[in-house]
Amino acid sequence: MPASPLTVDVGALTDYLTAPYAETVERVWDDLIEHAGEFGRRADETIDAYRDRILAVLLALSGTDRSGLGFPAEHGGSGSPGESVAAFQTLAYGDLSLLVMLGVQFGLFGGAILNLGTEPHHEAYLRDVITGRMLGCFAMTETAHGSNVAHLETTATYDRDASEFVVNSPTPGSYKDYIGNAARHGRWAVVFAQLVVGGVRRGVHALLVRIREDDGTPRPGVDISDCGPKLGLDGVDNGRIRFDQVRVPREALLNRYGDVAPDGTYTSVIDNADRRFFTMLGTLVRGRISVGGAAVSTSKLALTIAIRYANRRHQFGRTDGSPEVPILTYRQHQRRLIPLLARTIALSAAQQALTGAMNESFRDPGAVVDRRVLESRAAGHKALATWHASDTIQTCREACGGAGYLTANMLGALRADTDVFTTFEGDNTVLLQLVAKDVLSEFRDGFNALNPVGTVRIIAEQTVDAFVERTSLRPVVERLRDAVPSRGDDAGLGDRRYHAEMLRTREEHLRTGLAMRLRRGVDRGEDAFEVFIRCEDHVVSLALAASERRLFDAFAASIEKARAEVRPVLDALCALYALSVIERERGWYLEHRRLSAARSKAITARVGALCEQLAPIAESVTDAFAIPDALLRAPIAQR
Ligand SMILES: Cc1cc2nc3c(=O)[nH]c(=O)nc-3n(C[C@H](O)[C@H](O)[C@H](O)COP(=O)(O)OP(=O)(O)OC[C@H]3O[C@@H](n4cnc5c(N)ncnc54)[C@H](O)[C@@H]3O)c2cc1C
Repeated sequence: MPASPLTVDVGALTDYLTAPYAETVERVWDDLIEHAGEFGRRADETIDAYRDRILAVLLALSGTDRSGLGFPAEHGGSGSPGESVAAFQTLAYGDLSLLVMLGVQFGLFGGAILNLGTEPHHEAYLRDVITGRMLGCFAMTETAHGSNVAHLETTATYDRDASEFVVNSPTPGSYKDYIGNAARHGRWAVVFAQLVVGGVRRGVHALLVRIREDDGTPRPGVDISDCGPKLGLDGVDNGRIRFDQVRVPREALLNRYGDVAPDGTYTSVIDNADRRFFTMLGTLVRGRISVGGAAVSTSKLALTIAIRYANRRHQFGRTDGSPEVPILTYRQHQRRLIPLLARTIALSAAQQALTGAMNESFRDPGAVVDRRVLESRAAGHKALATWHASDTIQTCREACGGAGYLTANMLGALRADTDVFTTFEGDNTVLLQLVAKDVLSEFRDGFNALNPVGTVRIIAEQTVDAFVERTSLRPVVERLRDAVPSRGDDAGLGDRRYHAEMLRTREEHLRTGLAMRLRRGVDRGEDAFEVFIRCEDHVVSLALAASERRLFDAFAASIEKARAEVRPVLDALCALYALSVIERERGWYLEHRRLSAARSKAITARVGALCEQLAPIAESVTDAFAIPDALLRAPIAQR
């Protein structure tokens, strides 16, 4: 029996999607509309001219109160990190080169001074960062080290007699690489380097280094070159920087987590160098959350274009001479676009929850938000959201046929400019290892014990877990089946508790299985690194399963709080999102006997039915993204 038609209260859905920062979103829409004429590289324009135009818009926006959103009020900001993320993700509807340049200037460069520096740095620099008088870059990555940043090779050696640090690139592998705002515009850089004091290495620290004079010429000892043409983001001047014994004052060290006294005494609130560095990196989590948010916005933009097109493009029809039908009528076209729409809404809800947790954690240092959990959630969310953006934009491009390939229809630039989201702010695969570490930490006591008792305990837990999985899932499924007269294979498929159980059971199984494998290797006396390498695909699967379950939990929790008028459509979107994930992973569920073949087929049928139910309102759902016409420039998206 076909499901009853759904309706969308577009305004209420917009409120749900923009809360609690709707006002900020509105103000950023106005900024974008004002500068919309400057977006995109023009056909006859050189890269340098485009970059200069993007810089001009950045400077114009630096004069508004939006640039200070993430900075404390006493230094010219407005102290709302959550609002700054909401602003950033809205800016993703404009030119993505501008977005990345703004991210470098205010998020990475300014954020590093704020989070790694201390009051004298804040007092001296933050106002100039916010107003754009001090243009800077974030120089962490090196040619030889991108993901493994603890092994950076740039050195900052303390010269006690001069009370200065000497910043140096000792090898070609130590040149700073891919650095945004370096090749053309930046005058300053926060440089990450191994700190050497009195001949002792103290691990990676950050220093504020002047790289260019006011007139743009590089400072003595600083060699800067362009990274060369890229796949996208032409408006971002990514550069390579080499330091040849560049001297900076002792005060250039951003010394919140490690300091050097004039006499060369090193002090830190955190003794362990690795832990210190990872604590420093953790303070920069906002950048990662921002990129996740931008990925969600670009998915919304691509889907708005493709779904409008799908409702207007007519191809084929009955053979009786009646008119051709819109392509969104076709089940396959629905299956391509509607699950992506559902997942986009899920990611949007999770993004809001993450932004809220980050805001609470950073606004109030005494807040109870666990930073380790926040970092793990942010890492998993960034990976899911950016991979989703790549998949969605490519699917939308194809779903618009030849029209999708035309520059005017925006999808090509979107694809090129978002591609690198999966790599910067942490490569997704590497980020997932961080997630797995957190998810496994529950077993930490057992691992630390490193004795047969610990092993037995984990094995016992595994047995108990497996038992719980088997016993707890079945009653839910059976209870749900009992609740419907037909007791067919699709009983309870729409029940959110069933979705939750299915996602949780997979995560639990992967987690206990991985813990067992790691443990067995250690017990056999194998080298721990070898054991890790062998299990790494299992590590990544666990992290993906855990991140997916967290995504589901966040979406489900936000629906509980949503207004009644939007609940039916959100319920349908949530069911489609969850069942699409189970369908995608059905091989695993079948292998592990969590699904029968008949129920697996019933899930596929239900996904199809939900697509059919949601297709007629899909365009209204995208209307709730409220993207202003001035930014939806694709001719195929016009109504
Ligand atoms: C356009 C652009 C802008 C950038 N802007 C900046 C900037 O402003 N400042 C800055 O500091 N950096 C910047 N970066 C650098 C970026 O952060 C790095 O490229 C990123 O961290 C990845 O590092 P990498 O390129 O060295 O890749 P690698 O770490 O070498 O990774 C290469 C591949 O190996 C895989 N891999 C690595 N380790 C493992 C492992 N343990 N297990 C399994 N697979 C693994 C990765 O998944 C990846 O697929 C930018 C990069 C780009 C492309």
